[in-house]
This record gives sequence, structure tokens and C-alpha cells, in this order.
Amino acid sequence: MDNETDYVCSSCGEEIVIPVDPTQGRQQEYVEDCPICCCPMVIQIEIRPDGSVECRAYRE
Ligand SMILES: [Zn+2]
Repeated sequence: MDNETDYVCSSCGEEIVIPVDPTQGRQQEYVEDCPICCCPMVIQIEIRPDGSVECRAYRE
């Protein structure tokens, strides 16, 4: 499966690559500060049965 994914920060517009930890489950949601602008983003990750990773992010 993909072990990293990316999202676009809605605050600064940068593409952020993040690691995916499959041991945390197929659906994950957590808050992470954007490493570029430090805006808190809610990250939603879904690992599909075929191993591909869907990632969404929105401002908290
Ligand atoms: Zn940002």
C-alpha cells in the first residue's frame, strides 16, 4: 500500500506530504499543524481495500 499521502493546506496552499500509519486503522482523523504556516488542519485518511490512500484536510 501507499505509505505516504499528501494534502493541500487550505491556508497557505502548499502541498504537504505526510506518512500514513496503517496500524492506526483504515479510517483516521487527527489534527496536525501545517509545517509551512502552522495552521491547524483536520486530516482525514482513508485506506481503501486496494491499498490506495485517500486524504482530505480542512481547517479546524
Ligand atoms: Zn499551511
